[in-house]
Amino acid sequence: MKYLDEFRDPELAGRLFDDIRRITTRPWAIMEVCGGQTHSIIRNGIDQLLPDQIELIHGPGCPVCVTPLELIDKALAIAARPDVTFCSFGDMLRVPGSSQDLFKIKSEGGDIRIVYSPLDAVKIAQQRPERQVVFFGIGFETTAPANAMAILQAERLGLTNFSMLVSHVLVPPAISAIMESPVSRVQGFLAAGHVCSVMGTHQYGPLVARYHVPIVVTGFEPLDVLEGIRRTVAQLEAGEARLDNAYARAVSAPGNLPAQKVLAEVFEVTDRTWRGIGMIPQSGWRLSARFRPFDAEDRFNVGHIRTEESSLCRSGEVLQGLIKPNQCPAFGKECTPRMPLGATMVSSEGACAAYYQYGRFVHVDA
Ligand code: SF4
Repeated sequence: MKYLDEFRDPELAGRLFDDIRRITTRPWAIMEVCGGQTHSIIRNGIDQLLPDQIELIHGPGCPVCVTPLELIDKALAIAARPDVTFCSFGDMLRVPGSSQDLFKIKSEGGDIRIVYSPLDAVKIAQQRPERQVVFFGIGFETTAPANAMAILQAERLGLTNFSMLVSHVLVPPAISAIMESPVSRVQGFLAAGHVCSVMGTHQYGPLVARYHVPIVVTGFEPLDVLEGIRRTVAQLEAGEARLDNAYARAVSAPGNLPAQKVLAEVFEVTDRTWRGIGMIPQSGWRLSARFRPFDAEDRFNVGHIRTEESSLCRSGEVLQGLIKPNQCPAFGKECTPRMPLGATMVSSEGACAAYYQYGRFVHVDA
């Protein structure tokens, strides 16, 4: 299949591995920011085929994983209301809250719908004026434009029965937080290509300059990931720190300007709590004042819900790259995809799920 097979070519991959081996002389720790990249790395065994000196650290770029438990509990409280039709992408349905998940509420008669676009939820609100229709709008800069379009569409249609539970997070502040952390070992980043296809690359230049860290915009297929690693290692070995775009077929420096215009209209920057990491200042979006009437958190008065994270789950350390998933004592024992203790096991993009799915069961002492 064009654009897939050509970026999975084993011969070209072999040459890239050779190049990386040839230029690597010292240990380097590189973080792939995105969960999609983590899955590509683990699925293809890329981390095992790299020279021993190169460690890949799995970053926090999985939207389900970093959504706070507290927000899941707020979603569950809204979804359990008899007057609500709760719409979500499928991956959120199994994410456990403190005591249940959306599937359980659905099995008890809750009106929970899996949709493929937030605009589907707007359509349901149009068709069912007697219902309160809520869309669960989480994710990084990639999913935000469609959510913003849904809000604009709901306003245009004059819908008073549509709202959104919003928890958008932003990659650049997370990179800052990782570099500011005293325990961080990250020396270079593979930035998430799809995020940059929306936002462009201009936000990353200041991070490169401030932290003197190479950032290479990288795609998701095996050759994309290998090329990103090759370029990052080349910079590290040369003592350089530059912003480099290894995903030029999808990413331009300015990014998607019409999408950015919509985002600026609908959202405003706010502090956000990241699951397992904590509050990162100015690291997310919420609805701007004009669109606040569409905020489900206000409409259903769930702002007071407070939840403590499980002490058993170490996904915070996984998300910060401090431990590998199979260094968590619960990995593959108390915690499996069927009975997940944390979001990094439940999400298809989570690092724990990737390690489980691709058989990385060897426990290593943390
Ligand atoms: S294996 Fe399970 S308990 Fe351990 S960090 Fe991952 S999600 Fe949490």
